[in-house]
Amino acid sequence: MGAHSDGMSTGITEGFSGAVGRTPLIRLHALSALTGCEILGKAEFMNPGGSVKDRAALGILQEAEASGQLLPGGTVVEGTAGNTGIGLTHLCNARGYRCLIVIPETQSAEKIGLLRSLGAEVRTVPAVPYSDPANYVRLSGRIAEEIPGALWANQFDNLANRRAHYGSTGPEIWQQTGGRLDAWVAATGTGGTYAGVALYLKEQDPSIRCILADPCGSALYSWATDGTLKSEGNSITEGIGNSRVTANLEGAPIDDAVRIDDPMALRTIYGLLWQEGLFMGGSVGINVAAAVETARRLGPGHRIVTVLCDSGDRYRSRLYDPDWLAGRGLEQPQRSGAALIP
Ligand code: PMP
Repeated sequence: MGAHSDGMSTGITEGFSGAVGRTPLIRLHALSALTGCEILGKAEFMNPGGSVKDRAALGILQEAEASGQLLPGGTVVEGTAGNTGIGLTHLCNARGYRCLIVIPETQSAEKIGLLRSLGAEVRTVPAVPYSDPANYVRLSGRIAEEIPGALWANQFDNLANRRAHYGSTGPEIWQQTGGRLDAWVAATGTGGTYAGVALYLKEQDPSIRCILADPCGSALYSWATDGTLKSEGNSITEGIGNSRVTANLEGAPIDDAVRIDDPMALRTIYGLLWQEGLFMGGSVGINVAAAVETARRLGPGHRIVTVLCDSGDRYRSRLYDPDWLAGRGLEQPQRSGAALIP
């Protein structure tokens, strides 16, 4: 056992943990044809827990186990928009830990319900800003302090998060593209995915442009463009955007930034569904729309990589429900309508 655990050669992996990563890089045909660039999406929704956050969850647990911070039978506590909690709960089940999750009640019913089905102890709390001590992240830290020996995963400021992407997502993209890529584009929640990949790719080839995508209502676009943390509007997307610069994002290379609004993100995910056959979550709409904008800024002939973070399944009652959208002043894109991405 163990000698042949690389899924690349045998297809056999060591349990759930061994199945994390090594995701395909999907060429988005319609958008590549539209822009004259090659737009590639890293299929993170194909991780065993269904999102890009499986990598961070695994990296955080492995480092805590190695340092002795997390002992057999211990408890893991985390504040999460959902996906990190889902990844952590799978991993805690597989590795024999108790898992306690704090999540804002504004997150989708699918994610909260899934966490409960998986067996996490879930505490839903009102969504309040980070500056408020009742904020879900800060509350999760206090809960962890009260449980002897508990690990606070602390995905926003625990650098094990971005190290997981520096050590896996980045090298996979470099290898899958044969080192031929011009730009890396991603939105950030904790910053782990964006920063880990950006730091790795810049080390391999400093000419690769790293572009931060941001939804409305997040302060990172203004921070990246003029150095001030200012937010405007809001967004129906989940898991991305921030009002502060996390330790994981701090020091990451940023060559340019793109802000995408909700109507554009929605048209993009419906376009991905109808034109590419991909059923995606809202952050993918921000990422892919930003990749298209990057293609326009760079001009034809460039190769651009972004992330397909999670599946539309987690948002069926929201992004794919016309009534929910109408309640937020948004129209469901129509299949027979005008070009989805103008
Ligand atoms: N998309 C979704 C759906 C997410 O849940 C997250 C994580 N919160 C992200 C994107 C952003 O990933 P990261 O935390 O690595 O910045």
